[in-house]
Amino acid sequence: MISLEKLVRRNVWNMKPYSSARNEFHGEASVFLDANENPWNTAYNRYPDPLQIQLKERISKLKGVETSSIFLGNGSDEAIDLIFRAFCEPGMDCAIMIDPSYGMYEVCANLNNVECKKVLLNSNFDLDADKIIELDDNWTKVVFLCSPNNPTGNSLNRNEICKILDRFQGLVVIDEAYIDFSSQPSFLSELDKYPNLIVLQTLSKAWGAAAIRLGMAFASPEIIGVFNKIKYPYNVSKPSQEAALAVLENEKNMREELRVILYERARLEKALVEPPYMFKVYPSDANFLLVEVGNANNAYNYLVKQGIVVRNRNNVTMCRGCLRITVGTPEENKMILNALKSIPL
Ligand SMILES: *Cc1c(COP(=O)(O)O)cnc(C)c1O
Repeated sequence: MISLEKLVRRNVWNMKPYSSARNEFHGEASVFLDANENPWNTAYNRYPDPLQIQLKERISKLKGVETSSIFLGNGSDEAIDLIFRAFCEPGMDCAIMIDPSYGMYEVCANLNNVECKKVLLNSNFDLDADKIIELDDNWTKVVFLCSPNNPTGNSLNRNEICKILDRFQGLVVIDEAYIDFSSQPSFLSELDKYPNLIVLQTLSKAWGAAAIRLGMAFASPEIIGVFNKIKYPYNVSKPSQEAALAVLENEKNMREELRVILYERARLEKALVEPPYMFKVYPSDANFLLVEVGNANNAYNYLVKQGIVVRNRNNVTMCRGCLRITVGTPEENKMILNALKSIPL
């Protein structure tokens, strides 16, 4: 990897971060007249911990990653946006992304006036590292990978990912939003080996906490330091920090729900490839299936009329004719299987 100083935007490297009241004071005190808060204590009158130490310590134990290598944000979407703002000079730098993949990478690139170079996945929706490394130049600061990938559901080939981590000069982001559903190991174990690696995870999927908005980025302490420098001072609210701690306390519940989802995923997949459906179903390491149904627009509208909403991916690269169907409860999955029996072709 080229030096972090060369990857970070000059203005970001040179700027001084905002210093909040909660940041400046360290030590013991009982009277807080430093932050212009309402002094009558309730659940919410004080600003929250800007660095979310208690929550990071819990996540550190859970994931086996030092707290100094953890950034927490308002969903992983915040981390994605910060990556562009920290490393990509608007109107000059570019980012590489795989296609098809999660739409937020491109939205954030466009918002930040950063050019996207899209690299098509192969016919198995897998990665060709050489096609990405080929595009590496002085202006290409970051590669976005997503594994298991959304909307295709498959995990990307680990050797190809490692090849990119070894050879690409800039940062490599691996979005692991669906890692809990996967039979493949996380790349968290590779953080020490690759200084250019950023792993994204979230409480929004397997942990059942999309509403609290808690995303995690794992990287070297130097990269995490850059995120901490430019984030909003109080980017994760106190209710979110508390709710996240409560959710993480209940890992047993998550494991039990995960077991049901994996069982249901297999059941749905098996049903959908057999009569009366005979659909093409792509292999999934996530909590959804990409299903080729023929006329996806008709199928989508028909399902909506039955009160069932899926994601129509008909207009997504390489996904013509496909619906992305989230694995629901056993009852919900029965309902969609029933509804799909009679879709008009
Ligand atoms: C759902 C999803 C996320 C989650 O984003 P949050 O902002 O944490 O809710 C991130 N990446 C991918 C690929 C996703 O599908």
